[in-house]
Amino acid sequence: MTAWTRKHCVCTEVRNLDYDEAAAALKIKRRWLEDNISRLPHQKFGGNPAVFCMCDLRVIQAMQAVLPADALAVIEPVEPAKQTPTTPPVRALAAIKPAKGRGRAVAQV
Ligand SMILES: [Zn+2]
Repeated sequence: MTAWTRKHCVCTEVRNLDYDEAAAALKIKRRWLEDNISRLPHQKFGGNPAVFCMCDLRVIQAMQAVLPADALAVIEPVEPAKQTPTTPPVRALAAIKPAKGRGRAVAQV
């Protein structure tokens, strides 16, 4: 079993929820948590049933979020500069300098 790094957990005190409490907090059926436990963040202490902290539930919530394109446009609006990333940057007029050596080459001809 791979141990979770628990970087997502910001709990400052232990307040774990059992299956029923987690299901109630998420407003879902306990059965869904049990059926999907192998791919959900949780804590497991030997033979005890899995337990969840609120951080685990936040990750589960994010995993199941349904965000249609219209919702994404509101949550992560595309900035005008990002809409045309292939456009080369416009050089300032002051940065444009005449090529060197052309005048002398013409004089030698
Ligand atoms: Zn936590």
